[in-house]
Amino acid sequence: MPYVQKIIDDLKKFNPAQVEFHQAATEVLVSLRPLLEKNPVYQKNKILERLTEPERQILFRVSWQDDAGDVQVTQGCRIQFNSAIGPYKGGLRLHPSVTTGIIKFLGFEQIFKNSLTGLAIGGAKGGARFDPKGKSDGEIMRFCQAFMTELFRHVGPTIDVPAGDIGVGGREIGYLYGQYKRLSASHDGVLTGKGLNYGGSLARTEATGYGSVYFAEEMMKERGESLEGKSCTVSGAGNVAIYTVEKLLQIGAKPITVSDSKGMIHHAKGIDLAALQQVKEVERASLSRYKELCPDAVYVPLSEYPKDGNAVWRVPCQAAFPSATQNELNAADAEALLKNGCTCVCEGANMPSTLEAVDLFLKAKIAFGPAKAANAGGVSTSQLEMSQNASMQQWTFEEVDAKLRGIMQGIFKNASETAREFGAPGNLVMGANIAGFRKVADTMLALGVY
Ligand code: GLU
Repeated sequence: MPYVQKIIDDLKKFNPAQVEFHQAATEVLVSLRPLLEKNPVYQKNKILERLTEPERQILFRVSWQDDAGDVQVTQGCRIQFNSAIGPYKGGLRLHPSVTTGIIKFLGFEQIFKNSLTGLAIGGAKGGARFDPKGKSDGEIMRFCQAFMTELFRHVGPTIDVPAGDIGVGGREIGYLYGQYKRLSASHDGVLTGKGLNYGGSLARTEATGYGSVYFAEEMMKERGESLEGKSCTVSGAGNVAIYTVEKLLQIGAKPITVSDSKGMIHHAKGIDLAALQQVKEVERASLSRYKELCPDAVYVPLSEYPKDGNAVWRVPCQAAFPSATQNELNAADAEALLKNGCTCVCEGANMPSTLEAVDLFLKAKIAFGPAKAANAGGVSTSQLEMSQNASMQQWTFEEVDAKLRGIMQGIFKNASETAREFGAPGNLVMGANIAGFRKVADTMLALGVY
């Protein structure tokens, strides 16, 4: 479709160097073709051109003092991408790799992910090039305070509600919220992922990982299979990976790997959850420490990874859960997974598979759960936190978990039925993109040109 190609070409031309954004936009726009052909109203009203341009991009300076008394400066960013169906919602990422291109791809994905949840939340993302690793608590606090000192004027409980992402967990949310509370003199639920004592929701910490496994279970169920007894590779060792491992263990599957920026653990008898939590949640150490706690596990440092990809995906498994970061699974990795008999890939991270890897999974017709569907459990539970804050209630863990499971089942049904409607049964990439897009696009039409 030349119309779609022209938009992709223009995006590349006028947003040069934002390669992750080009990748995310290409995947979505190409898969929308059957809908655009069937219904010319979207093209006529330039919905694609409008959707790929953020409503607002806020860039600001973040200056703070480190423990040595030296001044540090970086750029903070919040991209408020689309608010057609609800207040902007999406996480903040603190990582040395952050660029506006990365925040833009994440914000773009968030529009469709949030739409798919069935809840009234628009899409946004933010963050800064900052490495929380090796920083003291005091440095993290001063950074978060400086970040929120600028951000607070742009957010609000019905305007924009940030949350965590890579590098932003409970500690960072606490410091950000404390600063917001002081500046606004209010107790608005302006962030999600808050501590349980001050408005957080039970099960929010577990939600992305649990949700990803619930989604994989739905994919398997439709194929008359289950995850029980299956060997599962998991990448990452952050919030998403830890609670993916926990849920896999609970349902009788066998998670056998985790990884971090320095290497990976292959534990053939199954990941020891207590050891993993001790290393990552208590000690904030690298995974080589896991090997000290569990000497029968194998530790593979980054220097021994295969030249053409990621060691995690070379471990034979029946199901894979990429839960670390973008583009961590390339075509060579996908080929290795398929060759080793993997029949289910469920994306816990945002855009972990390259476009080429996704194509290989779709061609092989394995169960492939794309990120914007499979990892939507985190943001869904964030919205449940917003609901609890607005009604001044706190639900039980079981109530929140049951709602999360229902939402993940709803997302699967919506993506699966939409794929079938457009003649591509089982293609959840197309199903999720069209279903997520249609709700936002139809709302934009209803709201008039903006
Ligand atoms: N960062 C998470 C995501 O990628 C959660 C966002 C949120 O809870 O608002 O969806």
